[in-house]
Amino acid sequence: MSNQALASDKATLETVTQVKRWTDNLLTFKTTKPAGYRFDAGQYARLGLFIDGQMVWRAYSLTSAPDDDFLEYYGVIVPGGMFTTELEKIKPGDSIWTEKQVYGFMTPGRFTDGSELWMLATGTGLGPYVSILRDPEVWQRFRHLVLVHCVRHADELAYQDELNLLKDSPPGGKEGAAELKIVQSVTRDPGTATAAQPGVLHGRITTLLNNGELEKHVGLPITIESSRIMLCGNPSMIEETRAILHHRGLRPCRRAMPGQFVTENYW
Ligand SMILES: Cc1cc2nc3c(=O)[nH]c(=O)nc-3n(C[C@H](O)[C@H](O)[C@H](O)COP(=O)(O)OP(=O)(O)OC[C@H]3O[C@@H](n4cnc5c(N)ncnc54)[C@H](O)[C@@H]3O)c2cc1C
Repeated sequence: MSNQALASDKATLETVTQVKRWTDNLLTFKTTKPAGYRFDAGQYARLGLFIDGQMVWRAYSLTSAPDDDFLEYYGVIVPGGMFTTELEKIKPGDSIWTEKQVYGFMTPGRFTDGSELWMLATGTGLGPYVSILRDPEVWQRFRHLVLVHCVRHADELAYQDELNLLKDSPPGGKEGAAELKIVQSVTRDPGTATAAQPGVLHGRITTLLNNGELEKHVGLPITIESSRIMLCGNPSMIEETRAILHHRGLRPCRRAMPGQFVTENYW
């Protein structure tokens, strides 16, 4: 398919404007934004690269806020991965295809009630929550926002400076804004200086939920009445956490039925 035909049909060719590397295999990249492109915080885009003569598409959560005049993504380079082996080389000025349509139902708008929003992420599953927290809307909708980011190594705790700034200066101002609690957990290197920072937990999300440490640390219980929960990232974490929540009486949001949690599997 020619570039021209693709552009007029379902995708546009956008220009990479900025690349930030957090570690050897974690990066944030910004692109231009197609005219008229609209999305809700929490949704994902489909990005395309021509690789060995064929178009390869992959899903990427948007980390930019809906009103930003650029699109931003947070990605990991998967060893041997078809798409990310190519993505690893991107630099400002390069092009990337962006589907005109946006996807995904893991948005705060899925919840019709509740006063606390828990956002649980492993690894790059943090991405949609960065968008959600950059958007003023969620700060007025909930009383408490709890962001839980679980990574293997402490240097994978991306976006932490910005998230700490947001905590103190919510995007729409402090007036009536929710209180944000940021919880970081490291699973593999508890001995390093960053991981040993006060407040950084150790252990998987499921372990911290099962032993009660997460709720104790946050100072809020997870309840059917007030807690609304998002799960994003590693499918095993999501499956196991779903079972824990289910056991505690919480239910997934369904099309016609309000529930207490929504999920987004990354593979
Ligand atoms: C709804 C949705 C949203 C997504 N959003 C993001 C995002 O914001 N950032 C991002 O980096 N990826 C995201 N992904 C994953 C992304 O689409 C690709 O699967 C990933 O970039 C690997 O592509 P690849 O062709 O290089 O590897 P593939 O050859 O497709 O290899 C896939 C394997 O890589 C591993 N893998 C894939 N994605 C990840 C990941 N994010 N973290 C750790 N291991 C992974 C898994 O073991 C998986 O089996 C998302 C996926 C979905 C379905």
